[in-house]
This record gives sequence, structure tokens and C-alpha cells, in this order.
Amino acid sequence: MDEDRWIEVDGLHKIYRPRRSRPTHALSDITLTVRRGEFVSVVGPSGCGKTTLLKILAGLVPRSEGTVRVAGRDVTGPLPEVGMVFQSPTLLPWRTILQNVMVPVEVRGLGTRPYRERAERLLGMVGLDGFEGRYPHELSGGMQQRAGICRALVHDPAVLLMDEPFGALDALTREHMNVELLRIWRESGQTIVFVTHSIPEAVFLSDRVMVLSPRPGRVAEIVGIELERPRALGVMGSDRAGAHVERIRGHFDAAGVFDS
Ligand code: ADP
Repeated sequence: MDEDRWIEVDGLHKIYRPRRSRPTHALSDITLTVRRGEFVSVVGPSGCGKTTLLKILAGLVPRSEGTVRVAGRDVTGPLPEVGMVFQSPTLLPWRTILQNVMVPVEVRGLGTRPYRERAERLLGMVGLDGFEGRYPHELSGGMQQRAGICRALVHDPAVLLMDEPFGALDALTREHMNVELLRIWRESGQTIVFVTHSIPEAVFLSDRVMVLSPRPGRVAEIVGIELERPRALGVMGSDRAGAHVERIRGHFDAAGVFDS
């Protein structure tokens, strides 16, 4: 398998055709190749198709045209090596936090014991130790979202798709989660595609940032982020990080959209 083309999107179009309303051209001619272990973010104005792109990669929404391959396989439905974090955590209310985190392990029929330890470790890492036996309604929205992230990571998926996962968190928790995510990514060697509204967040996390135009989303530019790793939050004060942020923001100013 070609590790330089771990995720391959070529000439992707998506047109939604609802029965009772007019079609929406959500994505237009998206081409993107992600190498194994790379961290790529997607930014763009609301409604430009970012979530649609992730759902197509996850096999949850069919494409209209083009090629979409993940880990050497044509995506026609959900693949076992892909994990997804949604904007809201959608935990099962009748299961405890630990039981929720374990769902992907059960669904895939993996052995419970080693993964249970991993689940507990992940929960500790996101500041949820002591909450394993609690139910979702006993946790704040931010805590539930962190549990949702543990659930996506528990089976160590080769590819992680994250849709604005930290949008609901307060600024400090969000920064902490960014640093933790980079640590997990470095240790696991995962390939991550990350959707965010925050340009600084995209710059801090990514190897490359794909900038989409307003709907229908087209690739405006793919910006390589030249910041050394490992990165600490302080790097965002550097001139180079600032230049990357400005460059990306320029696309939105040019389009008359300010979205960050
Ligand atoms: P983003 O994540 O960038 O905000 P989305 O991918 O959610 O954008 O949506 C892109 C466009 O497609 C929007 O105009 C949205 O209304 C439309 N859209 C999204 N999902 C559906 C759907 N299931 N049916 C019809 N239109 C949809």
C-alpha cells in the first residue's frame, strides 16, 4: 500500500438532492492526498462542505463523483480502521462513561481487557478520571465531548476524522486538548483529518491546512505549515505562525467572508 497516498481524494463532487427541495452543490472538484501519519486540517466558511467531506471520508455519506480511498480501499461504507469525532458527542445516555468509550471495541468484537485499560488511560489523559462510572447527564457538555474523543481513540484507529471537536470547549480546555491531541497523535502515528473554524488552531496542529472556498467548497489553497515539532503553545507567538495564520485568513477576507 502506498503510504504517501494513505487518504486519496480525487475529483470529488457532492451534490445533495433532497426530495422536497432544490439540490445543493456542497463540494466541487476536491483533490487531496494525505500521507500516512500526516495531520491535515480543513478550514473554510460555514456551509462550504467541511462536514460533508469528513462524512464522505467516513463512508457515512455517498459521494456524487470522484475517487475516495482510505488505507488503499475504496470508501463505500464505514471502514474499521477509521474513527470519527463529531461536533457533539452523542453518548448513549443509558451507558456509563467507560461503557460509552468501549462501544467501538464491542462493535468490532475486540478483546475487552486490554482496551479497558486503554480507555481508562485515555479518560485520565483528558481529565475524566473518577468519572468512569458516571452517566452522560452527570457530566458537563465539555466533559461529554472529551469522553467522545476517548471513544474515537480507544480502538487506536489508523485514521481519525475530527469534525470541530473542540468547538464547545472553553478556551483553556481547548488549548489543553490541542496539546494532548498532538501528544496522542505523535505516540500513535495516526493519520488525522481535522475540521475547524479556528485558523490558529489549524496552524498549531497541522502539517498542512486545506483552505476551502465558500459553497460549493473548492480547494482555494493547501498551505504547508513549517513549524518545528514537537510544538508547544508558545509557538503561536512566533512570526512564522503569525504569517501562516495571515495567509489563510487572507482567503476569507478576499472572499468577503470572515469566519474565524
Ligand atoms: P460545513 O461543515 O462547511 O458548515 P456542511 O458540509 O455541513 O458544511 O454543508 C454543506 C452544504 O450542504 C450546506 O449548504 C448544507 O446545508 C448542505 N447539506 C448538508 N447536509 C445536507 C443534507 N443531508 N441534505 C441536504 N443538504 C445538506
